[in-house]
Amino acid sequence: MIGIQPIDQYARDISDEKQHSVIDGSSAGTEKRYYVLHKDYPDPDKLRKLAASIKDHTLNHLGDYLAKAEKSLTERGVKVHFASTDEDARQTILSILRGHGVSQLTKSKSMAAEEIHLNPFLIENGVECLESDLGEFIIQLDGDEPSHIVKPIIHKNRREIARTFQREGVATDYNDDPETITRRARVHFRKKYMEAQAVITGANFVCADTGRMVLATNEGNSRFGMAPVPVHIALVGIEKIIPEQKDLAVFLNLLGRSATGQQLTVYTEFINGPRSANQPDGPDHMHVVFMDNGRTDVLASNCKEILRCIRCGACQNVCPVYRQASGHAYRSTYGGPIGAVLSPILFGKRFPELADLPKASSLCGACNEVCPVDIPIPDLLLRLRDKAKREEIPSAGAIPMSPFAHLATSPSLWRTAMTMSKAMNHLPIQVAPIKPLQDWLGQRTLPESHGGDFRKWMKNRKNASG
Ligand code: SF4
Repeated sequence: MIGIQPIDQYARDISDEKQHSVIDGSSAGTEKRYYVLHKDYPDPDKLRKLAASIKDHTLNHLGDYLAKAEKSLTERGVKVHFASTDEDARQTILSILRGHGVSQLTKSKSMAAEEIHLNPFLIENGVECLESDLGEFIIQLDGDEPSHIVKPIIHKNRREIARTFQREGVATDYNDDPETITRRARVHFRKKYMEAQAVITGANFVCADTGRMVLATNEGNSRFGMAPVPVHIALVGIEKIIPEQKDLAVFLNLLGRSATGQQLTVYTEFINGPRSANQPDGPDHMHVVFMDNGRTDVLASNCKEILRCIRCGACQNVCPVYRQASGHAYRSTYGGPIGAVLSPILFGKRFPELADLPKASSLCGACNEVCPVDIPIPDLLLRLRDKAKREEIPSAGAIPMSPFAHLATSPSLWRTAMTMSKAMNHLPIQVAPIKPLQDWLGQRTLPESHGGDFRKWMKNRKNASG
């Protein structure tokens, strides 16, 4: 039996209902993005190339910009921490929480926090931790995993959510009207916001020159979470630094349009540090935890361009493989084209286990076309395929290529094989009782052989031109 790649298996096993949700959600995202971006920018290429160059410059001087950001944040009264691994990040956050006597908090959506499985860790350590992003809250209630960077529950429909709310006591009856679902969640959250003693957020950007942090959400949950609590912790991947505040004009214009087809994300919050004396509310203590967790390895690899990513999810929406397989098929926090490149190198030890992801692509290039920071994702996928080959990582479903290499590098053998291959068109190959062949044919259609026509054409052409 020829094995198949894990991602293929996910695509085969996905239910019709889940697949429809993913396809509908991602198609809608792609259409909105296209309309809004191209309406405002007839040539968005210039803007995304500018964004890419700012990101590349920052990544090439990341050490300097991190030091600058640390200084700027400290001057604003923020306590800065550095975490080199996921465990460091979890322990740093736990120790901050314990230092402030926090046992209950709210958390807004953060891919970095997802990456280190922060929520279950805090709950295990006695800290009640409520996801306040509606999608993440539903994931938390279901014990599920997010499957899209921007729309974590793209794989669910409103009927499932209504059932979850009823089952978990968020609602007393079944009602799948989206507005009702949202209103019910809002009532549930409000009490929790007021009881919380801290809030954990991510950050979309941190400006090195001023230490100003930007958080973009569409629900206002991070703002609500910050207002009544004394402690704010932001967990930030080190690649989220941008050199100057003026660079926000480039990135914010691209982020909203690429992520959700909005000119600007509804709540774009500029955070200057802890509450000042003349501010009525907001945290008195603010901590920023800059996390590496494999990012410097990515920076040292030949795929460092992937660190330009601003987590907009546009590549996921447009990817035909993601649409068929869903984000869960990528078996890590990051699904779709971004995940197919980032996960195998960010989680370096898992490379052999995730080496099927870069192969799960037709290299159509749609991901690169929509990427607001012009990441050459198809090129990076090829580089990772090459890495897998060099490291001799076995590939389920792949036929050994050495016999073909022998054939293709011997002109006489090749000529003979080409002539004989025409006979294959007349053989009853579909019924040949060879199990591996039948397994292979079960997954692919054998093209008709033309048996060396190209070589003949080339020869005739050369003869004709003398
Ligand atoms: S790789 Fe590009 S398109 Fe994909 S999430 Fe990142 S920024 Fe968006």
